[in-house]
Amino acid sequence: MTADFEKRPPIPAEVKRRVLVEAGHRCAIPTCRHIETEIHHIVPWHLCKAHEYENLIALCANCHRRADRGEIDRKALRLYKFNLRFAHDKFSQIEMDMLFHLAALPTGRGEPWAPFMLIFFKRLFDMKYVSVVRSETSMMVVHGVRSDPAFLLVTDAGRQFIGELGFHEIDDTDDGN
Ligand SMILES: [Zn+2]
Repeated sequence: MTADFEKRPPIPAEVKRRVLVEAGHRCAIPTCRHIETEIHHIVPWHLCKAHEYENLIALCANCHRRADRGEIDRKALRLYKFNLRFAHDKFSQIEMDMLFHLAALPTGRGEPWAPFMLIFFKRLFDMKYVSVVRSETSMMVVHGVRSDPAFLLVTDAGRQFIGELGFHEIDDTDDGN
């Protein structure tokens, strides 16, 4: 324990590495992707006084300045971070796109999808974030392959996952310094 709470310790190497790997050692802003990176605190250091992975994002010097000025706000930074994390880590881009799409549909409405391509969403099924509904009355088989569409629906767990993507802790009133 240190008595000097104002002193800023360096970012632990493990945390820094994880943040850089998450972004592929490039600026996390998808339209930038500059190769020289710095570590930015989404909630500024003077407010959080912590180097926590969830709050850190790799940015180039230019995007870092824009973030500090509030031109790229915290909500956007979090979105970029989560998109990156899941793209590189947990789910594929098509899985994330489908999950957000399904969550935006009216409750109980599904999205048709070719049944022989359900493998694309394997990790969403494994997590039980998405379920499949199939009609047993309008079954269609083409060349031995069942071809009537399957309907994808987001589950309560899937909705909860999206709801907990971390946005509740954002305080926009602090943006822009
Ligand atoms: Zn950048």
